[in-house]
Amino acid sequence: MRTEIPFNLPFMAGKELRHIREAVTQGQLSGDGPFTKRCHEWLERQLGCHRALLTHSCTGALEMAALLAEVGPGDEVVMPSFTFVSTANAFVLRGAVPVFVDIRRDTLNLDETLLPAAITKRTRVIVPVHYAGQACEMDAIMDVAARHRLLVVEDAAQALLSTYKGRQLGTIGHLGCVSFHETKNIISGEGGALLINARRFGERAEIIREKGTNRSNYFRGKVDKYTWVGVGSSYLPGELIAAFLFAQFEKADVILSVRTRIFRRYMDRLEELQDRGVVRLPQAAPGCVANGHLFHIVTRSLAERTRLIDYLGRRGIGSAFHYVPLDSSPAGRKFGRTAGAMTVTNTISARLLRLPMFYRMTDDDVDRVASEVIKFYARA
Ligand SMILES: *Cc1c(COP(=O)(O)O)cnc(C)c1O
Repeated sequence: MRTEIPFNLPFMAGKELRHIREAVTQGQLSGDGPFTKRCHEWLERQLGCHRALLTHSCTGALEMAALLAEVGPGDEVVMPSFTFVSTANAFVLRGAVPVFVDIRRDTLNLDETLLPAAITKRTRVIVPVHYAGQACEMDAIMDVAARHRLLVVEDAAQALLSTYKGRQLGTIGHLGCVSFHETKNIISGEGGALLINARRFGERAEIIREKGTNRSNYFRGKVDKYTWVGVGSSYLPGELIAAFLFAQFEKADVILSVRTRIFRRYMDRLEELQDRGVVRLPQAAPGCVANGHLFHIVTRSLAERTRLIDYLGRRGIGSAFHYVPLDSSPAGRKFGRTAGAMTVTNTISARLLRLPMFYRMTDDDVDRVASEVIKFYARA
């Protein structure tokens, strides 16, 4: 009997309910309890960042970064057009203008050679997005940023535990944002974290995350009154989320190794199609050890991709594509502008297809997906 292979299945590490029960028994359900502290320590130790703060989502972490950057109306934030909406939305909420640049053909990441032409007197921030957990050219990006005194906020939503020249992604820019959404490698349903690498942001980040109050310093006994000291909102998750997430952190090594094994097997099986020139496979970013976040192929045309999705779907295999280029989306046109042509972005947006990728995929599953793709191209 044919088994269905879904596009994604959320991974349960095993101890989630045990940790949640412990949190319930301890009786603190609001944020910043014992499990949140353990998650912060885990992230700080594993990644080597100055501070890590759990948020309710990566979107929330990006919004905190926009607040910390103190961008306002008319300020410009350079980012790829080929990304998720939150990368741009976080800054648009502050009145800033996203300036979209094209991506590289190989890594599908922001093309760093286009940065100088995109930067104006109003530019304040660069947001590299590490697509599929592959690293942007961070050395070049940090260089340009230093020369123009810009902040770098890494959108590392997909890149937790990927490295670039031995450094963890999300810890290279001034700030980094990661996601624990259930579609990512390590999950808590909804969830995220802000990574603080430039120490000067530490104290304000705590205030912004805690509704604009000095609650954190109050609990440390550093101040004798708990009061409103600045702008802020509520970005912290409750303890149940942190308890769930900690169970996933405990299994991070095995999650990483299983996903990278699935990724390598896909590469192996589909290489022949790339050799024949019918599809393009993911290309490793220079200096990067990636985390096996997602597996994609680039087809030859939009029509071919549509036929392939349909072909796989009829054989019980889920697949998906993304993103509508932000520059051409209704809100992107209204709030942002482009710097240069979006040639690669538009091509990739029309032709990229994501194949199933999840922890419990077996070697047989991978082989079956790959052989169906190969069969499709035997007829095509
Ligand atoms: C998933 C994702 C986000 C948003 O993450 P949430 O935790 O769902 O808010 C932002 N940027 C990129 C590139 C993503 O892939």
